[in-house]
Amino acid sequence: MNSMKEPIREDALYSSYLSSEESKKRIYDYEVSKIKGIDEAANYNFLTHLPVLRLFNVLSSDIIQQNADLKFAVIMMDISEFKAVNEFLGRDEGDRLLCYIGDVLKEIQDRRRFTVAGHARADLFLLFTTFEDRQELADICLEIKRRISDMHFAYKVIMSFGICASEDRQPSVSYLRDCAGIALKKVKGKYFTDFNFFEDEMRTLMLTEKLMESELLLALENHEIVPYIQPKVDMVTGRIVGGEALTRWIHPKHGVVGPSEFIPITEKNGLIISIDRFMWDQVFKYQRQVISEGRKPLPISVNVSRMHVHDRDLAETIIKLQDENDVPPYLVPLELTESAFTPEEKEMNRRMTDMRRHGFLISMDDFGSGYSSLNMLKTSEMDEIKLDRIFLSDMASAKCRTVVSHMLGLLSALDVSVIVEGVENEMQRDFLVRNGCAQAQGFLYYKPMPLQEFDLLIRKQELARC
Ligand code: C2E
Ligand code: MG
Ligand code: MG
Repeated sequence: MNSMKEPIREDALYSSYLSSEESKKRIYDYEVSKIKGIDEAANYNFLTHLPVLRLFNVLSSDIIQQNADLKFAVIMMDISEFKAVNEFLGRDEGDRLLCYIGDVLKEIQDRRRFTVAGHARADLFLLFTTFEDRQELADICLEIKRRISDMHFAYKVIMSFGICASEDRQPSVSYLRDCAGIALKKVKGKYFTDFNFFEDEMRTLMLTEKLMESELLLALENHEIVPYIQPKVDMVTGRIVGGEALTRWIHPKHGVVGPSEFIPITEKNGLIISIDRFMWDQVFKYQRQVISEGRKPLPISVNVSRMHVHDRDLAETIIKLQDENDVPPYLVPLELTESAFTPEEKEMNRRMTDMRRHGFLISMDDFGSGYSSLNMLKTSEMDEIKLDRIFLSDMASAKCRTVVSHMLGLLSALDVSVIVEGVENEMQRDFLVRNGCAQAQGFLYYKPMPLQEFDLLIRKQELARC
């Protein structure tokens, strides 16, 4: 056994781990070392006494090296909203929960062969183990989940599990861990899914995302991000009454890439703030150009990502652009997706109220696509509601038509403008017009187009008017 004063050699650590007698002594020595304040504590989590990542890796690698004929897996698990546990119940209760999970994992470790439990950080735990089939691993996750729900705790604790079950002989622990982490990411936030197995496509997807992320950083500088405009139309007259600016990435290899492929990535890394600002800048400049040419500009709305909740300069940035370009604020309405109007988004709500005072029009985008509640209509301040195209998805159904017609009736009584997204055919158009909705955005009329093309279209409409 090492002297406690000497730094511990890793091989000594895991050989002691493999023998249970040694292991008990080790834990005892460890407790002693903790009392004496000796640095061996760094190898174990101070709360759960489970090996931290470094030791977990060493112990697991050793098992792999010595058992070339077995298959191995890593289960990575964490607690959803652990921060909330600490905030609502206090740190002591949070610590009690972590210790309890640590004990459950230790029990599983002691009863299974070639198994190592670890505590990576905060609420992130690991279990390295051998397996014969995947069901065995799924059962471990379900057991942990059941044991946690048996615990007397004043908070509904939800654990998520990512599993990497490798068919390779002698995989590296870091590979198993990374892949379990990817699988865990995929399961997080999905209330009804407990665990997720890593599949090879996930890695490909992750690598594509990473590649895209690094390319996107340059794309903005290289002018590959450009504004497209989709005209908004009055369905009764067929005239264009405005537009919406929608971003496109003109990729040197892949051509035009739509926002649904890259906006989610930029919302994760914060680049969306710069993309939005760029789009706003382009729209204000365009409106200035139209005014300077003595033409009558039509409002062109811009999207404001929910990520601007964290952007303290949001109002200042938009107002500065408006001032610099000397464009009346109502010519650039701000579209925010409906989830930004929930009562929890107090800060965003406050900012939008300020923007309205400055003369900007606020539009609730994608209404009906997920988060909206009728209560939000009562409490939120807005000038326009954009009905999501989901409403039009099943116009053949009488129920669907009833919902849309009553929804339009309700909204018209609220003194807000209503526009419907995703009008694709005449049947939808006729129904909407019959039910008092005049404005639409949809492929029946126009798809989003480059800004210059939109400008030509508007010029033609202006000429036709003369
Ligand atoms: P959105 O703001 O709700 O924009 C409307 C989307 O519906 C656009 O998709 C548009 O092309 C699509 N659309 C319009 N009419 C039809 C139709 O008849 N059929 C179908 N199938 N689709 C129709 P797009 O351009 O792919 O944009 C998707 C979303 O990406 C936007 O939804 C918006 O949330 C986001 N986005 C786009 N540009 C920006 C931007 O500059 N900033 C931010 N923050 N988000 C943006
Ligand atoms: Mg929009
Ligand atoms: Mg929308």
